[in-house]
Amino acid sequence: MNVFELDKSFVAPTYARFPINIVKGKGSLCYDESGKEYIDLGSGIGVNSFGFCDEDWVKAVYTQLQSFQHTSNLYYTKPCADLAKKLCEISNMSKVFFSNSGAEANECAIKIAREYFHKTRGEKNATIITLKNSFHGRTLTTLSATGQDCFHEYFTPLTPGFVHIEPTKEELEKAISENDNVCAVMFEAVRGEGGVLPLTEEFANALTTVSKQKDILLIADEVQCGNGRSGKYYGYMNLGLNPDIVTTAKGLGGGLPIGATMMNSKLENIFSPGLNGSTFGGNPAVCAGALNILNRLDESFLLNVRQKSEYIFNSLKKAGGISEVSGMGLMVGFKCSKPAKEIALKAIEKGVLVLTAKDKVRLLPALNIPQELLQKAVNILISICEE
Ligand code: PLP
Repeated sequence: MNVFELDKSFVAPTYARFPINIVKGKGSLCYDESGKEYIDLGSGIGVNSFGFCDEDWVKAVYTQLQSFQHTSNLYYTKPCADLAKKLCEISNMSKVFFSNSGAEANECAIKIAREYFHKTRGEKNATIITLKNSFHGRTLTTLSATGQDCFHEYFTPLTPGFVHIEPTKEELEKAISENDNVCAVMFEAVRGEGGVLPLTEEFANALTTVSKQKDILLIADEVQCGNGRSGKYYGYMNLGLNPDIVTTAKGLGGGLPIGATMMNSKLENIFSPGLNGSTFGGNPAVCAGALNILNRLDESFLLNVRQKSEYIFNSLKKAGGISEVSGMGLMVGFKCSKPAKEIALKAIEKGVLVLTAKDKVRLLPALNIPQELLQKAVNILISICEE
C-alpha cells in the first residue's frame, strides 16, 4: 500500500487532507514524494515558526536529546526553568504551567479562573465569557468554550459555564449584567480559525474597563497569534491589553508539541502541588527548542515580521478579485470570488501551500520566510484569484 492507502485504511478519518505526501522540507520550502517543490505559507498551522529543519532549532533540541530526553515532573530540569523565565520576561507574567497543546493550555486557564472565583468569592459555578467565532480547542471543555455551534453538535452534554458573545462593548456589558458569576473573559486577539478576525480597539478597551471594575480575569488565547506571529511577542500587545492569563502553544515549540499557561502576580500562587499536572509538560528537549525560538524574536526580527506583513496586506488589497483582507502580522486572511478550498487546491497545483479559515484563504508563513519566496507565492495566489 502507498501512504495514501495506508492512511485511509488505518488513520481515523478526522482530517480532510490535501492530496500531498510531504517527504522533506528546508526553511519555507518542502517537497512531495515526486520531488515537486512547494512554498509553504501554512507552517504546519503556525507551528514551524522558523520553517522546516531550522538549523539552530534542530541543534538546540538535538543537544538536549544527547543529554537526556525526559525525566518526569518529579525532578528539576534547566530547559524548563529557563523557558519559564524567558516567557515571564517577555510577557510580564509571573509563573508558567507547561503542557503539550493549545487545548491543554486553555484547560489550565479555565481551571485557574474557576479556582480564583471560588477562592475570592467563596462560590462555585463561575461563568466564562468567550467570543462567537472563537476557537479554543478540541477537549470537551475547550470545545464548550469555543463559540462555534458547528463543533458542538454531536458532543452534548457540553461543559457548562460558558456564554458566547459577539466582540462588542454592548454584548460584553449585557452578558456581565445578566450573569452575576462571570469570572473571566477568554479571547483571541485575532480569531484565526473563525476567519482571521482581529478584535477592535473599542472592544479591547471595554475588556480593560470590565476587568478593572469587576475583578473579571482576562484570558488571552495566544495559541495561534502568539510568539511573534502578530509582529509583537503576543497579539494582545497590539491592542494595549494587560491580560491576567496568557495561553500559548503552536509556534512556541517551533515544531514540537508544547502548551504554556502564563499567569500574572495576582494568580501566581493559585496552584499548589497536585492541582494540575502533565506527564510530558515541560519536556526538556521541547523546552530547549522553544527557548531557542523565543531568544531569536528580538525587536529587529519582529520589525521584519511587520514589514513582511505590510507587504502582504498591500499586495492583496490592490489585487483584482480579492476582498476582505484581514488579520495582524503574518496571520492574514482574504476572500476571493472563488471558494477558499478551490484556491487552496489550485495553489497546490502551482506549488504553494495555504490554509483556509471558514470562507477565507489563510496565510501563516514561517516568520523568517525569505522576501523573494514570499513575493513569488503571493504573486501566484493573486494570479489564481485574478484568473
Ligand atoms: N486556541 C487557538 C486560538 C487555536 O487556534 C487552537 C488550534 O488551532 C487551539 C486553541 C487548540 O490548540 P491545539 O490544537 O494545540 O490543542
